[in-house]
Amino acid sequence: MTLSCFDLGERMLPVAEARTRLAGLVEAPLSAERVALGELHGRVLAEDAVSPIDVPQNTNAAMDGIALAWPATHVEIPGEWRVVGEVLAGQRRDEALGAGECVRITTGAPLPPGADTVIMLEQLEERAETVVVNHPERVRPGQNVRQAGEDIPEGQTALPAGTRLGAAELGLLASLGLARASVHRRPRVAIFSTGDEVTAPGEPLPPAGIHDANRYTLAGLLTEQGAELMDLGILPDDREAMIDALSDAAGRADMVITSGGVSVGHADFTRAALEAVGRLAFWRIAIRPGRPLACGLLGEHKVPFLGLPGNPVAVMVTFLQFVVPLLSKLQGRPVREPGRLTAITDEALKSRLDRTDYLRGCYYADTDGRLHVCSTGAQGSGILSSMVAANCLIELTDDREGAAPGETVSIQPLHRLP
Ligand code: AMP
Ligand code: MG
Repeated sequence: MTLSCFDLGERMLPVAEARTRLAGLVEAPLSAERVALGELHGRVLAEDAVSPIDVPQNTNAAMDGIALAWPATHVEIPGEWRVVGEVLAGQRRDEALGAGECVRITTGAPLPPGADTVIMLEQLEERAETVVVNHPERVRPGQNVRQAGEDIPEGQTALPAGTRLGAAELGLLASLGLARASVHRRPRVAIFSTGDEVTAPGEPLPPAGIHDANRYTLAGLLTEQGAELMDLGILPDDREAMIDALSDAAGRADMVITSGGVSVGHADFTRAALEAVGRLAFWRIAIRPGRPLACGLLGEHKVPFLGLPGNPVAVMVTFLQFVVPLLSKLQGRPVREPGRLTAITDEALKSRLDRTDYLRGCYYADTDGRLHVCSTGAQGSGILSSMVAANCLIELTDDREGAAPGETVSIQPLHRLP
């Protein structure tokens, strides 16, 4: 982390600058390990996956029908062909075809030597030892054939390092015959909630208590990001407990995230505890919801630390803006801006100049396919139900003072389970 991270003083940071500076908390990706294909979902490649074979391996038929060698001197093929054999998927024929000869072939079966064209079954009429081609004038040289290596040639990078492996990527690795891959270790992320009022779900709620929502929101977000969770529970507002928990976490985790307890005017012990275990900065970021935010490095291993606000919506917003890039960097993924789309707002939206406001919204396409968005209603930063109703965050940047109906706004789609 650059020194400047700790030298920001009281200056109000724009969101984009905070995002870049926070990414500096992580210097290098985590080490690599070789993992079996069946365990690779969600992992990130530490090396390029290079194809050891041509995919497909053989030039093969894309249809069931007959395979033939286009006669060199012909513009149009003859209408009748002698059937001299059959190649089913999984078989091959090494004997070349003579003039006027064809083989029956099924989809995926390798073409015999010299064959270059496949005519589909539906265009053929069966005779005793021949087939008759309907409309031979419609047959084109090389049709219905997949060339060896046309998907991925041997030696080509099929997936570059930094690729996160989803369903399609796993299928691709499998089709290359790669039974293992080198991937970055999953980041172990320690989380805890703070606050004397914060009560675990399942425990009776004290008269002045509030159930702990943040640990579960964070657990979900971290899992979606491919992290391994270290749930360290709820900390009371107590300096010693905080010091113990932070030191312990710093010794075992790749990143530590807390929520609550970093408000301005909060008892000094929180700040004191954080400073006892690491080097901390308290930032003022021009964001709503999402203030305040503490960040820094803990312990001798300089473990990145993020102290998120206590309000549940602020936790989600700051996680998506600031924690996701850190997790990407730990996993060797390129650090990108959040994914954005542009939509027309159906209603007036409030925001302040010189601050980025994130409103919870619902976007949809109208009958012409244009994206529209409306807010989900009350926007208090403790109102989690508005997050449940949302499918995007509406992002009103520093240069905007609200938006009028019909104006375009930037939205960040939320990745919700269907
Ligand atoms: P704080 O930053 O600790 O002052 O917390 C700000 C607000 O968020 C307070 O109303 C807290 O009660 C609430 N809060 C803090 N932690 C949690 C949590 N884990 N789950 C739900 N609400 C919380
Ligand atoms: Mg608190």
